[in-house]
Amino acid sequence: MSQLEIPEHLKYDSWSEALKQGTLLGQECADCGHQTAAPKAACVRCGSRDIETIELETTGEVYSETTIAVSPVGFEAGYKIAIVHLGEAKAVGRVSGDVEIGDTVTFSGAFEHDGQPTPQFEVVSE
Ligand SMILES: [Zn+2]
Repeated sequence: MSQLEIPEHLKYDSWSEALKQGTLLGQECADCGHQTAAPKAACVRCGSRDIETIELETTGEVYSETTIAVSPVGFEAGYKIAIVHLGEAKAVGRVSGDVEIGDTVTFSGAFEHDGQPTPQFEVVSE
């Protein structure tokens, strides 16, 4: 398996490095249990700074999706972005293929553009 070190305090650099290696990291608040899928300095729900780095679940349900019709330079137009519930956390990522709210998707790695990784998900066929 990977040699990935999970940092105690998650920063964007270690989050994106882990993502490139195929691991989705997030944070969990020790005070209220709130989970996030991207690094934050403090809990967005209760403001606590007692937050630890966790490995997120990799399969979840699509909460919301949208198609980006006007894409940034370097991106093919018509790609889909979804908000995915991974356990308690909500992750934002690209989804390949047709996807609808309520579909089950699984994390399939990082989509990289200009060195900036974004989580990518695939629809799990029933
Ligand atoms: Zn909290």
